[in-house]
Amino acid sequence: PSMTRGITKEVSKVSWDDIGGLKDLKKKLQQAVEWPIKHVDAFARLGISPVRGVLLHGPPGCSKTTLAKAAANAAQASFFSLSGAELYSKYVGEGEALLRRTFQKARLAAPSIVFFDEADSIAPKRGHGGSSGGNVTVGERLLSTLLTEMDGLELATGIIVLAATNRPHAIDAALMRPGRFDLVLYVPPPDAEGRHEILRIHTRHMKLGEDVDLREVAESTDLFTGADLEGLCREAGMVALREDMSADSVCNHHFQIARHSLRPSLTKSMIE
Ligand code: ATP
Repeated sequence: PSMTRGITKEVSKVSWDDIGGLKDLKKKLQQAVEWPIKHVDAFARLGISPVRGVLLHGPPGCSKTTLAKAAANAAQASFFSLSGAELYSKYVGEGEALLRRTFQKARLAAPSIVFFDEADSIAPKRGHGGSSGGNVTVGERLLSTLLTEMDGLELATGIIVLAATNRPHAIDAALMRPGRFDLVLYVPPPDAEGRHEILRIHTRHMKLGEDVDLREVAESTDLFTGADLEGLCREAGMVALREDMSADSVCNHHFQIARHSLRPSLTKSMIE
């Protein structure tokens, strides 16, 4: 990634195949994000205006960021990433300036995806901006800057805004009006089938013993996020090495030990 005055532009290398499960969701994102960029002519021919914004919501660690990167990569679009919390914490005026500068860069580098992580902190519901009155103003100013930039996207084709949040209800209703975040997608935690795929992805480059049954691991990891499962695979490898630095594969009992040393990050109440 190249850093330009606080704005990170990345050429994303993540592909749809690096994301386990979420088949329908990937399809929806392909159509909403990849198609309008790749098939500009077809959209023009039929007079379809693509969505300007897509809001991804769901529990942490379940691939919202990775999905945004995969969409950018598949569309061969430049990827600009901003964190809402980071914008919010800047000195007065700096957050808005960074926001405007990012859109400016995205226009120059179009087609582009602008990705906002922790979007709820960029656009806190008005009147719910926290304890001090000063912070409410920062939130409102960021929000109105973002709205202005998004409304301007009509003219600048080839930019799609993706936002991620764990708290969709904290997002201001103004962002949900037509022409802004038109598409709202829930990114659920993985089910057993999804966990199996995620485990396959994260063990792709590992040497596994013949007794490893990833389906069984998937069954025993209810409430594990994708990020947790990635951690589990790494830990199983570490267990094998701690046991024997000259080990040549990671076996079932290594996964068992790793599984029992880790806790899932989700609780039932976090699942919508
Ligand atoms: P947060 O809300 O905390 O930002 P997120 O939903 O954006 O989380 P990511 O940052 O995309 O989640 O995921 C964290 C890591 O977990 C990724 O780097 C990825 O390796 C792994 N991961 C999560 N979900 C999946 C998945 N479905 N398939 C493969 N890997 C996954």
